[in-house]
Amino acid sequence: MRTRFAPSPTGPLHLGHAYSACLAHDMAVAEGGTFLLRIEDIDQSRARPEWEAKIYDDLHWLGLGWPTPVMRQSDRMDAYNAALDQLWDAGLLYPCHCNRRDILAALDTPQEGVEPPTGPDGVIYPGTCRPSIAPTGPRPKDTALRLNMARALECLDTPITYSETGTVPMIVSANPLAEIGDIVLARRDMGTSYHLSVTVDDAEQGITHVVRGADLAEATQIHVLLQRLLNLPTPAYHHHKLIRDENGKRLAKRDDAKAIALYRDQGKSPRDVRQLVGL
Ligand code: GLU
Repeated sequence: MRTRFAPSPTGPLHLGHAYSACLAHDMAVAEGGTFLLRIEDIDQSRARPEWEAKIYDDLHWLGLGWPTPVMRQSDRMDAYNAALDQLWDAGLLYPCHCNRRDILAALDTPQEGVEPPTGPDGVIYPGTCRPSIAPTGPRPKDTALRLNMARALECLDTPITYSETGTVPMIVSANPLAEIGDIVLARRDMGTSYHLSVTVDDAEQGITHVVRGADLAEATQIHVLLQRLLNLPTPAYHHHKLIRDENGKRLAKRDDAKAIALYRDQGKSPRDVRQLVGL
């Protein structure tokens, strides 16, 4: 068994991260497997080396260990480009020049307060830039690239499925074109995307069990679809409960009050933190 914890170095780790990391670690150790760490820093406008250093500190303090060197997504652009080339050559991507305002205008949701339809990747793209014939020639580099969902689905021999051992059932849309849409796989500012990078890297690290919060359960079908298109194995998924604050709200990066470092500074032990999250 190989599990991983994949934080983004954009803020302090909080109790929710402690739960996720300890659970992934404990599951691997219980099976004599390996727990890996991966730094998800493709958003260079938000990632900071200080936060990365604090991630190592917090996880070490919790008593976790992992093989080094640690995979850092900002070092992995070649692998993401190779995956994007593969999808482009298969005619599954197209350039998109729409900004958010264009998309909302095309969706014709002018009424204030009326939310446009969303899926696991946010607002469902109305298809403005989708070509009727797959683009040819070299892959454009400084524009967003979307997945042609209808074409991608045509490539599948069997329906999307995965094994789920967590607190939520497997989630697979009946109509991914209408319920997920043509998602962005290469953002103009990053050259990649969360979905593409996470899929490529879980395969590269040989992850057998993806352990992460239930908030990502709905996006898993996108990852399985990409695994199929890129000929990568599909790991098992374990989407765990989310740690909430006193008001039942899920913890976010800005919830400094729940930062692991704060509990440590207050003299709490790693055991106390494990107990707080129910481990
Ligand atoms: N980097 C993501 C986050 O910090 C986690 C991605 C994942 O576990 O798949 O929320």
